[in-house]
Amino acid sequence: MDNDANCKVCEQQLYGQGLQGICRACCKTLGLVEMPPARRSARPCTVCNHMKFIRVIPREYTAYAVKNGYIAHSAPMTLTRETGATDRWVFPGKKVPPATSLEGGRGSLETYVCTTCGFVEWYCPDPESIPIGPEFMSEVVDYDNPTPFR
Ligand SMILES: [Zn+2]
Ligand SMILES: [Zn+2]
Repeated sequence: MDNDANCKVCEQQLYGQGLQGICRACCKTLGLVEMPPARRSARPCTVCNHMKFIRVIPREYTAYAVKNGYIAHSAPMTLTRETGATDRWVFPGKKVPPATSLEGGRGSLETYVCTTCGFVEWYCPDPESIPIGPEFMSEVVDYDNPTPFR
């Protein structure tokens, strides 16, 4: 046990729980989350048949305006995001903000890069979390049970 360890990114002393030697502030800044269990089964690369991969959770990046400029922000990449809506004050109905925030992502992604040929495979570790509907630009494609009507 290394009790006075420092964050391996910012080298500040670690307070509270971080993530594998990275402090909470750095995790927030860099959009780091704990790696979910691997989704891909142990089988060779579909292109070159080799067995060694680098598993990467891809992140996406955005920036939001503050008083004196912009603050960059990143988060794990997701396939879609929840729609946010708040009550309007004057007109009836809900106000829908543009999807500029990285909050509320659904359907996380992970990639496996073959270290021999570089082929990249994408997986979603939590397909059940993906909301279905035109507002999410998603639909179910079930080849065993095709739906005649939408
Ligand atoms: Zn740090
Ligand atoms: Zn390969």
